[in-house]
Amino acid sequence: MKKRIGKLPGTLNPVTSKLARWQRIYVNRSLNLATVRAVGFDMDHTLAMYNREAFEALAFRETLKKFIDAGYPAALSKLEFNPDFLIRGLLVDIDRGNLLKVDAHKYVKIAFHGHTRLDKETRHRLYNNASFKAYEFLSVDTFFALSEVQLFTEIVDFMRRFPGKVLKTFREVYADLRKFIDLSHADGSIKSHVMRHPDKFIKRDKYLASALVRQIDSGKSLFLLTNSALDYTNCVMSYLLNDADPDFPHWRDYFKYSIVSAGKPGFFMGHANFEALNPETGKAIKGTPTSLTSDFVYRGGNAKLFQELTGFRGDEILYVGDHIYGDIIQSKGVVNWRTMLVVEELDTELPKLETLRDSFDAIQKLLATQESVGEKLQILRSKIASNARQAKIALQNGEARKSRYLVAGNERLIEQASACDEEEQTLAKTVRDLLAERESKVHPVWGELMKVGLERSRFANQVEAYACTYTSRVSNLRYYSPHKRFTAFFDTLPHEI
Ligand SMILES: [Mg+2]
Repeated sequence: MKKRIGKLPGTLNPVTSKLARWQRIYVNRSLNLATVRAVGFDMDHTLAMYNREAFEALAFRETLKKFIDAGYPAALSKLEFNPDFLIRGLLVDIDRGNLLKVDAHKYVKIAFHGHTRLDKETRHRLYNNASFKAYEFLSVDTFFALSEVQLFTEIVDFMRRFPGKVLKTFREVYADLRKFIDLSHADGSIKSHVMRHPDKFIKRDKYLASALVRQIDSGKSLFLLTNSALDYTNCVMSYLLNDADPDFPHWRDYFKYSIVSAGKPGFFMGHANFEALNPETGKAIKGTPTSLTSDFVYRGGNAKLFQELTGFRGDEILYVGDHIYGDIIQSKGVVNWRTMLVVEELDTELPKLETLRDSFDAIQKLLATQESVGEKLQILRSKIASNARQAKIALQNGEARKSRYLVAGNERLIEQASACDEEEQTLAKTVRDLLAERESKVHPVWGELMKVGLERSRFANQVEAYACTYTSRVSNLRYYSPHKRFTAFFDTLPHEI
């Protein structure tokens, strides 16, 4: 099987090379926008970027209240939300209460229990000595999950600091957490805050409207496909788009089809019917729709039926979303839609990585030196072994002088090998220190989203495997022609470099 190794840097065309890195759209699989007839968008964290600190803190507090109401120690109310502790792409070991950052080869590189970092030995014993099954752990894929998992981590830490205060297993605590979050969503404790003050929680991107209009003007049909319910969708989308462009006074004017409460990823695999809703009142219209129009908003439905009713083939649809599993893996895998993943973190990470370019070059150079020192060391070791063997044979054959000569020669070689060994170890340590310094500049605890040390992260592996393209925000589409042919650089194998 062909192994995906990575890509040659390739040559950027003049348009792309003028863009800052966070403005670019990155290509894993070639995508010709000219053949795309419909572009679909997820809403939360795709069209609507959240003020994460405010939103996640809100979710954290609302859920914490429910823990205390349910009889957990009142001291938990002192727990604080820390927006910088977690990143997406981590795995949660619910049984042990641990957080894990895993590389593309399923090797656990960083692990935390509560706020305590696990030492290398413990990490190896728990995770790296048998085949690691990522599916046994919970994956932190969405921004919504960040506040949830941080709250879990804080409670785990509380249980470590105050043994006996919470008489439950970590798994039971997590089950309660899930229950309370669902409750917060169901009783509107989170949603109602956002709907009252969307300006506090949602960031308006002033270029979003023009990016969408550009696609519409090129003849493409836009559609909204969100799991959020109509009242919430209406509020968020109105805040984002109403009055952003005089030709499109209402947010629904941008979209030929609007689908709410879609139930992704089930939408891509299931057989549910669409239900037409009155967009103003939210009341369901009787009967099963036999066509989709912009006069109604639709609830539920499924991807195959969507294609049948709209006449778009799977590969004529580009779907833009932020959830690698819910939006991308299933849409690509089941109905063969083309995909664009919004990776919001690139917005802050790429400028930081740009300033760390020199450290990257320095690390590459040191690695090359380390490799040649390593090779020299191996040659010396082979010579030493060969000399020792010949000295022994010479001695057996009564050639004492030859034997002494070889032994004396070996002493010099052993000295050289030991110097090489020391040099290699110093180089390895310098590389480790530089990498750690570089990572801590990107994120103090977990480093880069897409890398772990020199390896790709599990998250990066999923992005490469499933997202045809990825970018930091939807409005980056405005930098490219709606007929753009996005070309992936060829996959390269080690012998091709
Ligand atoms: Mg989303």
